[in-house]
Amino acid sequence: MAYPIAPGGLAAILAHPDDESFGCAGALAVAHDAGATTRLLVVTRGEAGSADGSSDPATGDQREAELICAARAIGLDEVSLLDGYPDGGVADQPFERLVDEITAWMAERRPAAVITFGPHGVTGHPDHIAVGNATRWAVERLADRGIAPNAVYVISPIFDPSGNRYDLSGEEQAATHRIPITKVAARKAEALGCHASQTDASEELAALKAAIESGEPIHEGYSRVRPLVPSPHPEFDTALL
Ligand SMILES: [Zn+2]
Repeated sequence: MAYPIAPGGLAAILAHPDDESFGCAGALAVAHDAGATTRLLVVTRGEAGSADGSSDPATGDQREAELICAARAIGLDEVSLLDGYPDGGVADQPFERLVDEITAWMAERRPAAVITFGPHGVTGHPDHIAVGNATRWAVERLADRGIAPNAVYVISPIFDPSGNRYDLSGEEQAATHRIPITKVAARKAEALGCHASQTDASEELAALKAAIESGEPIHEGYSRVRPLVPSPHPEFDTALL
C-alpha cells in the first residue's frame, strides 16, 4: 500500500481475515481519519474458512483478497500476513516463534497503540486466544527494550449492534473505552461486506446496517490492559490514541 509509512499510530494484531472487520474496523477508520498511521497484522490466511471447515489454499487466496478489500474500506496504511500458521492451528505452532515474529513486526513499526484479542478471544476461537497471548508477551519483550507501545487494548464487543453473544473474560467484559464510530459505520459495513465467503460476516453486517438505519449512535468497545486502568471510569474514554 502507500509508502513510506510513518511509524507510530494504531496497529491491530489479529488471527484471521475478517477479525478486523468484526472487531475493530471502526476504531481503525477513526484513527485513519484523524491522520494516524493504521496497520494490521494477520497471523493466518483463513484457509479453513470454507462452509465445511476444510482447509483449502484457494480459500486462503479468496480470503486474502477479501482482506485487502476490507483494508481499503477502512483506510489501512499497511496489511501484513505471517507465514507458517495454519488457520485453526495457531495454538499448535511453537508459541515462542509467534512471540518472536510479532515482536519483530512491532519493533519495526513502533505503533503507539495496539489492539489485540483478550483472554477469551471474543468468540473463544483458539487462534484468537493464541494471537492475543502472543501479542501481549511480545509487548513485554518490547518493554524490556524500552520501546513498548503506550497502550494495549483488547477487543470488548459489548456495544456491538449484533449483541454480546459470547462468554467473555473479565477483561473483555470490562470496557474502559467506548469509541463512537457512527461517522465511519458505513465503512465498517463495507468492510464486513468484503468478506463475502463468510456467512457470519453477513449476519454481523445485517445487524450493523439495521443500527445505521435506526439512527442510534454506534460504538466499539475496548479494554485497556496496559497500562492497566485501575477501575472502570463512569465516563468512558473516547479515543485510543
Ligand atoms: Zn477469527
